[in-house]
Amino acid sequence: MTFKKADLHCHSLYSDGSCSPFELIAMAKERSLSGLSITDHDTVAAYSEAFAIAEQEGLPLLAGAEFSSEFNRIGVHILAYAIDLKSEPLLNLCQRHQQRRRQRNLLMLSALADKGIYLSEGQLLEKAGQATIGRPHIAELLVAGGHCSDMKEAFTRYLGDRAPCYRRFETVSSEETIEIIHQAGGVAVLAHPHLLPKETKIDRLLCLPFDGIEAYYGNFNSQKNRPWVELAQQHSLFVTGGSDFHGAAKSQAELGSAWTPFDLFERLRQTSHSTG
Ligand code: AMP
Ligand code: ZN
Ligand code: FE
Ligand code: FE
Repeated sequence: MTFKKADLHCHSLYSDGSCSPFELIAMAKERSLSGLSITDHDTVAAYSEAFAIAEQEGLPLLAGAEFSSEFNRIGVHILAYAIDLKSEPLLNLCQRHQQRRRQRNLLMLSALADKGIYLSEGQLLEKAGQATIGRPHIAELLVAGGHCSDMKEAFTRYLGDRAPCYRRFETVSSEETIEIIHQAGGVAVLAHPHLLPKETKIDRLLCLPFDGIEAYYGNFNSQKNRPWVELAQQHSLFVTGGSDFHGAAKSQAELGSAWTPFDLFERLRQTSHSTG
């Protein structure tokens, strides 16, 4: 018997992924996944079309998003599932992030200009289209303009959290993010704890009212995932898995490379406030 799996973490064209919701849903079926959540950065815009497509394609879909937050000045990504997509506080949070990102991106473009690299906001808007604009879009422009040989170099030399052109602007705390997810009737899951910097005080972070931990992530092996599964058990949190797929050219991990058992996916979907 094959285990029924759901991938609870991937990105579409509405943030920094390169697939449309239709392509993600079709790919999930091709890969024999039994469920999917599209978790774009700081936006739920994909769901304006995703539920209708999922229903047509016969793939169970769970409303989701991946919110940027900060805890003690460390960037923490928080996955939200089973949220009410019409929740005022949730939509306000998305709106705040759009404004925060715009200001932050302008600061980053100006920091790049100080280094003699001139990119305009217009170029960025053209690159991103209708998507939430993120650092990967700036990185793509740096590569396309011949300033860096690849995305990795763009992050190491200019845009990474510790690189000289990274800028912060009006961040939202992890605490407030979780509160808003709960107000929207959803559950809050700590995304890819594997990627948190070593100095993160994880026990303090887990004092916040998280519901789950994404202990199975991307291509990480069981040795890398195990400590997070154990930590989730110690804190009585549920465990999810997701690939963080951004499109074939952008991701190391394939859609479905990490997954959540279908019964947990289904339980979350049953409590969901948005099913299309
Ligand atoms: P943003 O949300 O605009 O701050 O951009 C964060 C996104 O940039 C992350 O979700 C990753 O997809 C990507 N990213 C961050 N750091 C790196 C890195 N060192 N190399 C490649 N991509 C990165
Ligand atoms: Zn991303
Ligand atoms: Fe993330
Ligand atoms: Fe992600």
